[in-house]
Amino acid sequence: MSLLITGSVALDSVKTPLQEHHDLLGGSASYASVAASFFGPVKMVAIVGTDFPEKYLALYLKHGIDLDGLQIADGKTFRWSGEYEWDLNKRRTLSVDLNVFETFQPNLPDSYKRTPYVFLANISPQLQMHVLAQVVAPKFIVADTMDLWIETQRDALAELLGKIDCLVLNESEAREFTKETSLIKAGRQILKLGSKGSSRGPKYVVIKKGEHGSLLFANDLFFSAPAYPLEDIHDPTGAGDCFAGAFTGYLVRANRIDHDSLRKAVIYGSVIASYCVEDFSLTRLQSLTELQISERYGLFKSMSHFDVG
Ligand code: AMP
Repeated sequence: MSLLITGSVALDSVKTPLQEHHDLLGGSASYASVAASFFGPVKMVAIVGTDFPEKYLALYLKHGIDLDGLQIADGKTFRWSGEYEWDLNKRRTLSVDLNVFETFQPNLPDSYKRTPYVFLANISPQLQMHVLAQVVAPKFIVADTMDLWIETQRDALAELLGKIDCLVLNESEAREFTKETSLIKAGRQILKLGSKGSSRGPKYVVIKKGEHGSLLFANDLFFSAPAYPLEDIHDPTGAGDCFAGAFTGYLVRANRIDHDSLRKAVIYGSVIASYCVEDFSLTRLQSLTELQISERYGLFKSMSHFDVG
């Protein structure tokens, strides 16, 4: 079983009150693919420019990520820079340079077309649909999005929602998209967008609440997951992408979609995201071990178990 992931690959510059780093490996596809690689094989669809450092290609390969769908185009790699406040939940985007993304036409290699699981990490809904249209008989499709597309491409986003099984988004995006203040109402409203009688439309919605955990919704399921109480957060960039990549990665490994696998997927997503933020870019995930993943999974379990009688 394998997982196709499309999204952005970026060179990021990130500033926190304590540190500043440039030309870091970033982008939604980078974070999601490395996070998912802890659970099974990943095929990446994305674009970089000729300035993309070899060491980052080597990093993907070290994680067993299939790069047949990674285009290397004439021009510069997508660049993003952002600055965090002392409250690391508050981030300001300083600059976005689309570069090679402006003309990106993702074409799937034949070896990718029958991938059963698909994660459409954050890029424009048009590009997400372009990739999806080339996948033959996908079994389960998860998508992420961001405020930019809710504000500028709402119709395309609504169209995308009719083609997926699960939407993952953060709390402010859920509120903005549904115009609901209550996250419970927002989650339930997104579920209703699934077209009746059709096999697609979001049957599952995950709302990420950053350092407050996450909520999973289905018509017959509500699950509230805690967040890991981390003391040292160095760079929250990509936590959401890691969450969604590991969430989908675990479902691929389980190879079944039911309440049990979905709940565990949410916890594995939280585990990998909690490791990601311990250092800048994908640095912490480079030294992450299976043992550390299962230890923190166990801590999540004991942390949220209350029926001790
Ligand atoms: P997150 O912290 O989950 O919002 O993800 C941060 C990553 O998103 C960074 O590594 C950026 O390179 C990437 N990113 C920022 N803006 C965009 C955009 N408009 N489209 C795709 N990826 C983006």
